[in-house]
Amino acid sequence: MEVVYIGLGSNLAEPAEQLRQAIQALAQLPSSQGLQVSSLYSSESLSPGQPRYTNAVARLETELAPLALLDALQAIENEQGRVRAERWGPRTLDLDVLLFGDRVIDEPRLKVPHYHMQARAFVLYPLAEVAPPGLRLADGRLLVDLLAACPFEGLERLA
Ligand code: ATP
Ligand code: MG
Ligand code: MG
Repeated sequence: MEVVYIGLGSNLAEPAEQLRQAIQALAQLPSSQGLQVSSLYSSESLSPGQPRYTNAVARLETELAPLALLDALQAIENEQGRVRAERWGPRTLDLDVLLFGDRVIDEPRLKVPHYHMQARAFVLYPLAEVAPPGLRLADGRLLVDLLAACPFEGLERLA
């Protein structure tokens, strides 16, 4: 069993509903257990002119291999109508593997830790809800230190 953290995001077709549906799908993942999900957060898109994003982070324990987990996550994205047009375009659902135990993975289809998570408030603050405060990334940095360097500004925690 490995503890994995998954970033969820949506900015199309009722984002909060997309995330609720994705959470139900995560709860059904094979060889996995102990799903916990953060609050939902809303923030401005990093790409200008796109609708606001709704984000959350899920924690679960899995026996799936990393690429099998990625396949399952991409299947859920596809089921929820994810269309890959331009890079960083608007999407019904994005599921990113943030952390997979303490592994460092560098494969064409899968890079873990997720390369932008250290600087993204919409990842770090929900992550802190479901991860222990002493969580350390593979590079040795502590989650609490990343949070201290990443302003909450612009993020809105949804009820
Ligand atoms: P960003 O990576 O900046 O969050 P994105 O999530 O919009 O962008 P996608 O279009 O969802 O990017 O994914 C592009 C490719 O990234 C996927 O085909 C996938 O194989 C690859 N990828 C690499 N590392 C990861 C990871 N840790 N989690 C999910 N996908 C990954
Ligand atoms: Mg992403
Ligand atoms: Mg993605």
